[in-house]
Amino acid sequence: MKSYKIYIDGQWIESMNKEQITVTNPATGEVVGYVPKVGETETKKAIDAANNAFKSWSTTTASERANYLWKLYHLLLENKEDIARTMTMEQGKPLQEAIGEVMYAAGFVQWYAEEARRVYGETIPASKENKRIRVLKQAVGVVAAITPWNFPAAMITRKLAPALAAGCTMVIKPASQTPITAIKIMDLCEKAGFPKGVVNLVTGNANEIGKTIMSDFRVRKLTFTGSTEVGKILMGQAGETVKRISLELGGHAPFIAFEDADLDKAVTGALASKLRNCGQVCVASNRFYIQESIVDKFIEKIKSKLADYRVGNGLEEGVNLGPLIDESVYNKVEKHIEDAVNKGAKIEFGGKGSKAEGNTPGHFLQPTLLSNVTEDMLIMKEETFGPVIPVLSFKSEEEVIERANNTNYGLAAYFYTESLARSIRVSEALDYGIVGVNDGSPSTPEAPFGGFKESGLGREGGHHGIEGFLETKYVSVQI
Ligand code: NAP
Repeated sequence: MKSYKIYIDGQWIESMNKEQITVTNPATGEVVGYVPKVGETETKKAIDAANNAFKSWSTTTASERANYLWKLYHLLLENKEDIARTMTMEQGKPLQEAIGEVMYAAGFVQWYAEEARRVYGETIPASKENKRIRVLKQAVGVVAAITPWNFPAAMITRKLAPALAAGCTMVIKPASQTPITAIKIMDLCEKAGFPKGVVNLVTGNANEIGKTIMSDFRVRKLTFTGSTEVGKILMGQAGETVKRISLELGGHAPFIAFEDADLDKAVTGALASKLRNCGQVCVASNRFYIQESIVDKFIEKIKSKLADYRVGNGLEEGVNLGPLIDESVYNKVEKHIEDAVNKGAKIEFGGKGSKAEGNTPGHFLQPTLLSNVTEDMLIMKEETFGPVIPVLSFKSEEEVIERANNTNYGLAAYFYTESLARSIRVSEALDYGIVGVNDGSPSTPEAPFGGFKESGLGREGGHHGIEGFLETKYVSVQI
């Protein structure tokens, strides 16, 4: 089985202590490969390299930086099958979904290849005749990116592309469960010809790498995607050197279907927003509020669609629901189902899983539909990260908005209605960074993705996504 290397200053290197992380396939338990388990020493080297490269990279023209990104974009498209296959093997998502993710990941590189050339400053009319005021946008400096396992390619390019477009250099630390996809993206960065030190990648001990990054003054920005729990730790650590931070954290999305919705559209949207990546998605719907008069019909329609899902190894033809990533995620999902059933929920579909023991294959769970759900259940409060659809009913628009907003999370919300007035009213009233109106899959490179409240800080994607990598400098000229 292949041993991979980390990428620092344009070189592929092994860990100094020779320790490795074993990457396994969540569907089969087989070893996919080994990556270095590094800590402080290599992370400091990566920061040195990014810091040394910053001066020359940040002063290249926007058009030069755009050209490197265009090369990377084309390489991602040319290699999409290979990257997708790796992703399915280490993360579990069905191959077609993995190909979709590589295309989505490439979309960020394409978008920021275009945006690199549209970072504009300002000229502000001064209040004194003999003064001129210019506002410049400049690269923030060395950026560290820490990414999760659920979208191993897109969560990297959503950070890498705007950072490099802005003129920043980078140190990337991918999740330990899915580092090989990240290493393959680094390989393409090398092929695209980015100068040495511009992008660097380390794999290994999260705590040690994190502390090294967070305590190093030269890293001027952290961009993190992961759990709210780890996001809070990093936010605290950022205070030491007053680092800029962007945080894309957890969610607990409400999904609302009003009685004036097109029910078939709502059912399709519900499944799209819940079952992609086996429910292991930050913007996955976690609570389904269906208006009283249509709740029975909704449950029947969802039930009939769930019968079409085939659970299994994502590399097998016809499989459209892969395994959960590991035992701890499986246990949490199982606990949410058990807790709901103990408190009176009814399993309308699924509910059964198979948990890996010893060398037997992975943690699979049938898509599961629950009715008679109440607000006191764990599933209504914690992010589930699994293929479970808990259904509740509601009476009025006012009531459901209040219930939907009653959470510390604020990432995504979805609702279905055919009323134009209601679509405007409700989208304005929901306390969420992303609202899908009759749209179960709103994520796209052109739009600003991010959350309110404990779901994070800052936005990724759109022209907004590059702002977090830029400083604003005001130049006052007396003439
Ligand atoms: P996680 O446990 O927070 O890990 C995310 C990353 O942080 C991994 O690279 C992890 O490294 C690293 N990490 C863990 N502890 C750390 C520490 N003390 N210091 C520095 N780095 C540390 O999250 P996850 O389980 O991978 O991902 C799932 C979570 O991400 C969910 O809550 C999901 O909602 C959220 N998410 C949010 C978005 C968004 O855009 N808002 C998108 C995708 C996922 P190791 O892997 O080595 O432990």
